[in-house]
Amino acid sequence: MSTFVYDFAEGNKDQKDLLGGKGANLAEMTNLGLPVPPGFTITTEACRAYLAAEESRDHATPGDGGAHGALPDGLAEEITEHLERLEETMGKKLGQADDPLLVSVRSGAAASMPGMMETVLNVGLNDESVQGLARQSDSERFAWDSYRRLLSMFGRTVLGIDGDLFEEALEQRKEKAGVEADLELGAEDLQGLVRGYQEIIEEHSGRPFPQDPREQLDLAVLAVFGSWNTERAILYRRQERIPADLGTAVNICSMVFGNLGDDSGTGVAFTRDPASGAQGIYGDYLQNAQGEDVVAGIRNTVPLADLEGIDKTSYDELLGIMQRLEEHYLDLCDIEFTIERGKLWMLQTRIGKRTPGAAFRIAGQLVDQGLIDLDEALHRVTGAQLAQLMFPQFDPAADRELLTKGMNASPGAAVGKAVFDSETAVEWAGKGEKVILVRRETTPDDLHGMVAATGVLTSRGGKTSHAAVVARGMGRTCVCGADALDVDVRAGHFSAPDGVVIEEGDEISIDGTTGEVFRGSVPVMDSAVVRWFEGEADSDEDDLVAAVARLMEHADGVRRLGVRANADNPADASRSRRFGAQGIGLCRTEHMFLGERRELVEHLILARSDEERDEALAALLPHQRDDFTGILEAMDGLPVTIRLLDPPLHEFLPGLTELSMKVAVADATGRPSKRDARLLTAVKRMHEENPMLGLRGVRLGIVIPGLFTMQARAILEAAAARKQAGGDPRPEIMIPLVAAVQELELVKTDIIEVAREVEQETGVDLEFKVGTMIELPRAAMTADEIAEAAEFFSFGTNDLTQMTWGFSRDDVEAAFFSQYLEKGIFGVSPFESLDQAGVGALVQQAVERGRATRPDLHLGVCGEHGGDPDSIHFFERAGLDYVSCSPFRVPVARLEAGRAVADRGASGD
Ligand code: PEP
Ligand code: MG
Repeated sequence: MSTFVYDFAEGNKDQKDLLGGKGANLAEMTNLGLPVPPGFTITTEACRAYLAAEESRDHATPGDGGAHGALPDGLAEEITEHLERLEETMGKKLGQADDPLLVSVRSGAAASMPGMMETVLNVGLNDESVQGLARQSDSERFAWDSYRRLLSMFGRTVLGIDGDLFEEALEQRKEKAGVEADLELGAEDLQGLVRGYQEIIEEHSGRPFPQDPREQLDLAVLAVFGSWNTERAILYRRQERIPADLGTAVNICSMVFGNLGDDSGTGVAFTRDPASGAQGIYGDYLQNAQGEDVVAGIRNTVPLADLEGIDKTSYDELLGIMQRLEEHYLDLCDIEFTIERGKLWMLQTRIGKRTPGAAFRIAGQLVDQGLIDLDEALHRVTGAQLAQLMFPQFDPAADRELLTKGMNASPGAAVGKAVFDSETAVEWAGKGEKVILVRRETTPDDLHGMVAATGVLTSRGGKTSHAAVVARGMGRTCVCGADALDVDVRAGHFSAPDGVVIEEGDEISIDGTTGEVFRGSVPVMDSAVVRWFEGEADSDEDDLVAAVARLMEHADGVRRLGVRANADNPADASRSRRFGAQGIGLCRTEHMFLGERRELVEHLILARSDEERDEALAALLPHQRDDFTGILEAMDGLPVTIRLLDPPLHEFLPGLTELSMKVAVADATGRPSKRDARLLTAVKRMHEENPMLGLRGVRLGIVIPGLFTMQARAILEAAAARKQAGGDPRPEIMIPLVAAVQELELVKTDIIEVAREVEQETGVDLEFKVGTMIELPRAAMTADEIAEAAEFFSFGTNDLTQMTWGFSRDDVEAAFFSQYLEKGIFGVSPFESLDQAGVGALVQQAVERGRATRPDLHLGVCGEHGGDPDSIHFFERAGLDYVSCSPFRVPVARLEAGRAVADRGASGD
């Protein structure tokens, strides 16, 4: 049979799964010889046994907390054994009448679940031992105060009684005594309160408060087990993606008291400043108090440094311990301690949370101190932290008026005047105004408005909606899906839930890192890290930047995955290069068909003969060639993957309703437009019920003669021109939405033909590749066949996710993902972080099949997942050659690609 109980001296810090985080660290500190009050830990395994028994007895409805059921077989005996040992060590028995041993009963799971589960303090007090405690402590007040705390905690937690009842009784007692604060209640008041609490317990639980200390202990243990399945704990685990079946450990620890007078107190300490990472003495201390008083904020704490003047011996000892803990854990530790009558006790330690800036600084400091190496330092920071350091931030100290919160689609802090259409955005921006484009949702038509705006706010659409994807690509701040806002684009205003109306021209501030929308202008601070990436600042100007630079360099040194950028104009390409991109992994060409070129696209669609169609294409060609020349120049010497046109062509035409109205009005007023009538016919003809599954991608290339060859020619002519100018262009032509190798072969044959022509015309030898996106399940499953015709694959995981789940990426996030997340169907949107079990399995299949046909097949990913840390670690394991992401995420991807290698090394796979 398993062992369910371990003395603190029997465990260690690596046993978090079994002993919980708190228990494992108490064990570690005990074994380091630090002053930890003696105690023992009941394992998570015991909790799991309890939960399994509960379930089979059908008690497992989400609990009110409270103690139900029975201890698992054998646990009671083990507790007895360890309790007896504890009593021997302490020289007194649990609840002993003349000098009671009291214990705390605390939950402690493997993953931190702050405040989610239960604690009962002062277990062992009863009507007799409270007298003994009074004599031993020489304080009646202290003893009765301890007892009433036990009664209320036990009543609430163990017996499931409404906590307000105890609160009300306390308030009444204070009123009766004519005092304001708990601390002003005297021993007699507290004794009266104890009687009141006992009556509440008897009335509401149907039994008197158990006087038997051991019964108190067992019931408290059961209540902690049961608190694993309270509704708030279940919800928290879902949100944090903590598995539901881990269970919690229970720590039974002999009580020490910080509220025995001025020579006692309690505090928290950090071995370094968790905000800045600076080394020093950080923490708070509260004299004559217990931990809960600190939390309740009854009195103000003093800075930890003041403890030196209050109790120098304890202070010096604490500092020595803090240093030992850092040297032992090799990281920032946070600590809870209590001083009982001049004696220091350690109640808890753990690796402390920190801000992103502190994480980078501390990792660097620990390397400098020789405590960790650079590989380990890389483990200590994350891409998410780096991303936070890269975005401009609102000054946290500034006043702000929150209007609502939407989805944090593209990070950053943007301030500007609200505008409701792209024309106004462009016009106002042209006059030097900063504007925020506010729409219900954006379409490709809004691109010029988005370019002009400093930020984008939409009331519809999720994190892979058009607004979100495009804004991220441009590094434009975006809050999307703020559905509490009522946006009236025609009237030019929106209203917030509390009735505030923002008119066109009113200033607003949007925080793309948190999703918050504020009224007015909130002051913004620049990011030093971005200035360094941009080459505008030296890394030695700022210690944070220096710390970031050092880890970036190390990540670049160890990573295997290449990092490219998704960029479709020379400015974005250049920026991504400054940010360290090793090529363009996705140049979407649809953005090049908008604005004034749209008319040319209309000509193409309306062409009535081959000649008219060829004319329209010929008119588009020079524009495309210029686009590609600029990008190839910006990325000279690096690969540039250019994707041929992907979206359905009707996306470039006016909407059906809008056009129908226009034509109807024109007809009614006797001024019909032939062109509009023809357009309307075309729009009707091209209408699709499911455009995402319709005429798009490679299908366009096959159905519209000359379209893909025009694009290929533009790319190859641009490459020839770059070569003639002494450049080193490396174009890769990529075909979207291929499902069958035959599609690719057809298009590829045409491209090769065009290449021959261009070579002949220009006399330049062209080097280029032709490859495909893998974004349909069929493509993944027939990747061995497709690899016959493809020199490279790039996984389009946006579409692959959409097509695998059958989720419309433009609709589902805003429509019902919140419910899916709440119900725990997934912990994070599969459009944000790759669904490794489903979509990932298809990626793996395609990698294996593709490489079986063509061992040197070059493999990348260009969906949004290319910039997502967890997904990058997956792509490293799957053996891809590179990831491609928006320019702003390139540094994040570089860091995570480095971390992924370090992780694989550590896990030995
Ligand atoms: C994809 O589908 O992952 C992709 C990169 O293409 P798009 O987002 O343009 O459909
Ligand atoms: Mg796609």
